[in-house]
Amino acid sequence: MPPQPATVSDGSDLAPEASGAATMLYIDGGWAEAIGGGTFEAVNPATGQVIGHVALGARRDAQLAIDAAARASMTWGRTSPFERAKALERIADTIERRRDQLARILTLDQGKPLIGEAYGEVEELILYFRMAAADATRIEGLLPPSTDPAKRVLVYRVAKGVVGVITPWNWPYTMPAELIAPALAAGDTVVWNPARFTSLCSVALAECIADADLPAGVFNLVTGPGADVGDELASHPAVEVVAFVGSTATGGKIAARGAGKDLLLELGGNGPLVLLDDADVTAAVKATLSACFLNAGQSCTAGERVLVDRSIHDAYVAALVEAVRQQVRLGDPLDGATTMGPLNNERTAEKAERHVREAEARGAEILVGGERAPRHGSRLFFEPTVIDRVTEQMAVAREETFGPVVPITAVDGEAAALGIVNASPYGLLTAVFTRDLRRGLNFAESVHAGWVNINESTNYWESHLPFGGRAGSQSGLGRVGGRYAIERMTELKTIVVNLA
Ligand code: NAD
Repeated sequence: MPPQPATVSDGSDLAPEASGAATMLYIDGGWAEAIGGGTFEAVNPATGQVIGHVALGARRDAQLAIDAAARASMTWGRTSPFERAKALERIADTIERRRDQLARILTLDQGKPLIGEAYGEVEELILYFRMAAADATRIEGLLPPSTDPAKRVLVYRVAKGVVGVITPWNWPYTMPAELIAPALAAGDTVVWNPARFTSLCSVALAECIADADLPAGVFNLVTGPGADVGDELASHPAVEVVAFVGSTATGGKIAARGAGKDLLLELGGNGPLVLLDDADVTAAVKATLSACFLNAGQSCTAGERVLVDRSIHDAYVAALVEAVRQQVRLGDPLDGATTMGPLNNERTAEKAERHVREAEARGAEILVGGERAPRHGSRLFFEPTVIDRVTEQMAVAREETFGPVVPITAVDGEAAALGIVNASPYGLLTAVFTRDLRRGLNFAESVHAGWVNINESTNYWESHLPFGGRAGSQSGLGRVGGRYAIERMTELKTIVVNLA
């Protein structure tokens, strides 16, 4: 019986005094300490308290996991897809049974509100595994004709091999699930290096996967620094696919280190909300709240700026300021009345603060918030912030702020708005608001983005739909989402039979 991971067995016990034993790595079907024996602390962003200790995996641990995954891929890819579907259903069942524990760990480790958001992320996590189970049974090949009547051609859709999965901390269950579930469904094997800041979430999810009794080596978890473990996944010759969700900067490093491999890169965004002159202001305000304050603005799909037609600017701004003051409740994420928790880490808080200060110095007007909020459990609570008179020169408009900030720019007409959106090097998604659906569709078809919402928040997505950055942009390469992810995790193999 391999040793069991400690610390996350019961999320309700997560407290400094309960943080004795460290979590373990999951390699080749068993839990193990990191070879170096080191650990690092897991910290609750809402309180600054240490809530656990995590195994500090390194390159050598990653290599062992890759070796195990490579061995397992010899057989896992040839199992019946129906068997793989059953395994994925078992994982979904376990997650469902542990829903309360997983949601609580998510709030303690990541900071998002328990009732308003963490339970929702766990529901979507379950959906990813159920959806992959169904998709597994629909993987089909082709029987194309041959030019020679004596030949038969079989085109199989086959697994690619070992998938190195590297993921961020902002959606610590669903971002890994959108890669791990389709990879396992496709018959690939997985080595996962999660973000350091939400390692307890990753161990909790790995426990659910481990309990589904997959063959040894099919799924492996190596917690530890991305620059070490993640880099090993990106560069190791036995890893066929590198599936990465994270920042554009890290994605660039991975693309260089993994050159020649199959790369799936889901990177940063700068999703604007565009209000045309006939927009329904009330609906746009509601969508802005969800776009900019869900997960405290820490989403690749967050509304990173608002381009509002000058003719409705004043009405929109007045209604938005009122709505933010009335509806956004910053506080303890375990409290059911809280709608927005702390930022996850100091690097993110520092960036939000820097962007707001720079905008202010360049002449923007802060209408609401703009500071770290005092009188909370840690310094990571950032006030919901609305900034007007934002220009294209400001970092808050050009870059990904990743905080609870609404930067507003008045624009003169639809063409001007489209020009600004399409000048961005990002191309993940855009939202446009208009009462005229024909105008909305025209705008959506002209925007350089992988996804456009019409009269809906930038943060609206569905996990079975194709999602990813526009080709050539800094937002990534390839698509995730249901069967589109399965397509990325498989390839076509042609077999020609000579009957003569
Ligand atoms: P990050 O790039 O700092 O880290 C992401 C992951 O990469 C982490 O696991 C980290 O440990 C690892 N890593 C760091 N350096 C590495 C290296 N040299 N080699 C290999 N791995 C390395 O990103 P983050 O701050 O964790 O996440 C926020 C970013 O993720 C934002 O830019 C956000 O837009 C993006 N994101 C994109 C999507 C999408 O679908 N497009 C979804 C969620 C988040």
